[in-house]
Amino acid sequence: MNEAVNPGGPATPDDAFWSPGAPPLFGQVTFVGIGLINGSLARDIRRLGLARRLVATSRQQDTLNEACRLGLVDDAALDAAAAVQGADLVVLGVPVGASGEAARAIAPGLRPDAIVTDVGSVKGSVIDLVAPFLDMRRFVAGHPIAGTERSGPAAAVDRLFERRWCILTPTGATDPLAVDRVAGLWQAVGARIEMMDPAHHDRTLAITSHLPHLLAFNLINTADDLEGVKGEILKYAAGGFTDFTRIAASNPRMWQDVFLHNKAAVLEVVGRYVEDLLALQRAIRWDEAHVLFNRFESAGVVHREVVRAGHAYKRPVPARLQADGYVIAEAPVQ
Ligand code: NAP
Repeated sequence: MNEAVNPGGPATPDDAFWSPGAPPLFGQVTFVGIGLINGSLARDIRRLGLARRLVATSRQQDTLNEACRLGLVDDAALDAAAAVQGADLVVLGVPVGASGEAARAIAPGLRPDAIVTDVGSVKGSVIDLVAPFLDMRRFVAGHPIAGTERSGPAAAVDRLFERRWCILTPTGATDPLAVDRVAGLWQAVGARIEMMDPAHHDRTLAITSHLPHLLAFNLINTADDLEGVKGEILKYAAGGFTDFTRIAASNPRMWQDVFLHNKAAVLEVVGRYVEDLLALQRAIRWDEAHVLFNRFESAGVVHREVVRAGHAYKRPVPARLQADGYVIAEAPVQ
């Protein structure tokens, strides 16, 4: 099958990315922060037997209680340094702005050979924030390109990362063996690995993820503030608008941090976007039909390319691919 139509390998469910019975990749994995992303990773690690023991630490005892009740981890501790003791892998899964504080808190408990990685949506700033506290030979910055608008341990789902990219952004200081071990974990849970320079990651994600979220937050607030039609929003919300409301329901603390920690790249793409928006505004004012048509037509071409690349589905639940690249999900998106 065409690689572009079926990214990431087998389309069959049931642990096709990991051989049952293979030895675990890690002894103890400790999650610092246990919400949607770390919780989903914990579920897959447990389901696939990729580690012997899972531990979590978080800010709030309630979050840890819920993670334990849901069976995401075997043990939990509010004390971050205690939670990472004995871990050969530590995964930071907190808002990017909290990464430095998380690194400072775990540092006294880390084994000298422990690998630390993260899942933050911005990479350059996370690397700068953790550098004063960690052995950067063993820190592998990462970002799984998967998620939902939900947060907290109860939002965690199985197979969130299957057939999705996970971008790793090692620096010149990073030990290649540590990179291999982190890459092996993501591949075992079904992700495809891409290596990228941190600045290139931040510029790319600014346009593919950060700007779309900014537009969604802003559109929904503009609609909500618009005198005279406020009451109609619920009644007439069309498919596209409903999708925007879903994106705009994403975790505000997480997104606040993304914008403040990817400032330069986001401001660059916002500038370009505003320029292009003003050009459309002008074309509407002056009845320049051909300008509107050409811009809309080229956008449609991009959509078809995205569909062919296999991205036109919400979440990689066990699914069947159609010839045109659309995926028919066999379980509802949660
Ligand atoms: P989440 O579900 O809200 O979980 C966040 C976790 O971080 C919770 O355990 C929370 O602890 C903890 N936390 C929150 N604020 C904190 C702070 N100021 N200091 C220390 N800990 C704090 O978030 P998530 O969606 O999993 O996101 C985690 C990371 O993954 C973020 O860096 C985000 O950029 C990245 N990411 C998210 C997505 C997505 O779609 N959501 C996708 C890819 C990557 P308490 O509950 O105990 O307060």
